[in-house]
Amino acid sequence: MRTYLLALDQGTTSSRAVVLQSDGRVLSSAQQRFRQWYPEAGWVEHDPVEIWQSQRDAMQEALGMAHLGLGDIKAIGIANQRETTVLWDKVTGEPVARAIVWQCRRTAALCQEMVARGLEPVIRERTGLVLDAYFSATKIQWLLDNVAGLRIRAERGEVCFGTVDSWLVYNLTGKRTHVTDVTNASRTLLFNIHTRQWDPELLRIFNIPPDILPTVVPSAGYIGTTDASVVGDAVPIAGLAGDQAAALFGQGCIHPGMAKNTYGTGAFLLMHTGDQPVPPVPGLLTTLACEVAGGKPYALEGSIFMAGAVIDWLKESMGMIHSASESEQLALSVSDTQDVYLVPAFVGLGSPYWDGFARGTIVGLTRGSGRAHVVRAALESVAYQTRDVLDRMVQASGYPLAELRVDGGASRNQFLMQFQADILGVPVLRSHNWETTALGAAYLAGVGVGIYSGPEHIFRQTEEFTRFDPQASKEEVNARYRRWQKAVERSRGWALD
Ligand code: ADP
Repeated sequence: MRTYLLALDQGTTSSRAVVLQSDGRVLSSAQQRFRQWYPEAGWVEHDPVEIWQSQRDAMQEALGMAHLGLGDIKAIGIANQRETTVLWDKVTGEPVARAIVWQCRRTAALCQEMVARGLEPVIRERTGLVLDAYFSATKIQWLLDNVAGLRIRAERGEVCFGTVDSWLVYNLTGKRTHVTDVTNASRTLLFNIHTRQWDPELLRIFNIPPDILPTVVPSAGYIGTTDASVVGDAVPIAGLAGDQAAALFGQGCIHPGMAKNTYGTGAFLLMHTGDQPVPPVPGLLTTLACEVAGGKPYALEGSIFMAGAVIDWLKESMGMIHSASESEQLALSVSDTQDVYLVPAFVGLGSPYWDGFARGTIVGLTRGSGRAHVVRAALESVAYQTRDVLDRMVQASGYPLAELRVDGGASRNQFLMQFQADILGVPVLRSHNWETTALGAAYLAGVGVGIYSGPEHIFRQTEEFTRFDPQASKEEVNARYRRWQKAVERSRGWALD
């Protein structure tokens, strides 16, 4: 008898569903896109009902493709876009407004004002985050204060808050279960990462009634049962995690010092740091990794704004390449960039710099510079930015980096992966299974229902990687990396004048 797991991967632009066997083999996957709403400049919203329906449709489609019914599934795991905020009516289950998406900047001024009132240090110490519109708390506050009558209803206990994991579990269980997992809770600015509970002081600071909050559960374990009248069968939901935490787990980063980078439009780096949170360091977030089988690990997180997006820019705005994959041949057509460096600070620089005023820069151009040098410099910039973040993580955590595990669209680029290994001086391991987020969600569910005894059991069975070993000399790498740092300095603060 084969054992099947279903992973729901609810992302920012689409809802995906993946059917897997317990050995990690993917049987089918389906994807449903849904609408993005931009009601004002800098605002981003989703319709929670569309999120739910697209997720349910993707699930049915993936099951159909695998010739299975929901009843054949042993357990469901969910990974989700983080921070996005949904409020709904406790009685009817209807959303009270569209969801405010993590990208939405509508509460940026509110956050600035709170920073000016000196509130950031306590928030940073307790949550590991920074006081930014990106996270859920000010989004909840905005809804409570801008949807007519909502604050009063919330204070009377008539309203539920949830991130997207909560919202999906609530709907899958026929409105019975109102929970969130620790990794999602840790992105709200309301969760104390030391006590691992909602923090009364933070709730007071953000003026949020505690009654609206979901119960916090571990990332793996029995969470709820799907309602047969809603989805056709009663199956346990046993895994729940924010997408980046799920990917860290799916990559098998289950020991301190292990790190992964997802090279998508931007890049998300996470390092497992063991059972103690690393004190806040500039440019990085301290957050929770998946709570599995009694382990309560923490992680450091860094975000790079422009990764694959630099390649999109070369194609769409500069016309230098016809396809993303062409960047590889072009980069390999020259032996180096001839000292050209491209710093893709198009929207400022993310971790570890957090400089909103940095702007994109190309330095070192000469009469001999050509398209291939610039394209190569763009790809190299993705690897250099990754080293910037990882150096800071190693420094902050004290864990040396032994290897980097990678996934995401731009990790297909062999040149980039080899260059990454050279610049880091450690092997880069690219998972054969591209679906690391879904894999993480499925594995969590598998541990949750006891298919696997624990993380070690899973990853002994299933690890398969393409490996890129460092080949460049240390002197050469250090010389280039110093030049990169110099180029970054040239880009800093450009938009301040
Ligand atoms: P997201 O989940 O952020 O949408 P994906 O993981 O799907 O991102 O990756 C898409 C990104 O990967 C795009 O920015 C694209 O330009 C980049 N990309 C895809 N293939 C390659 C390649 N061969 N070389 C470099 N970048 C690539």
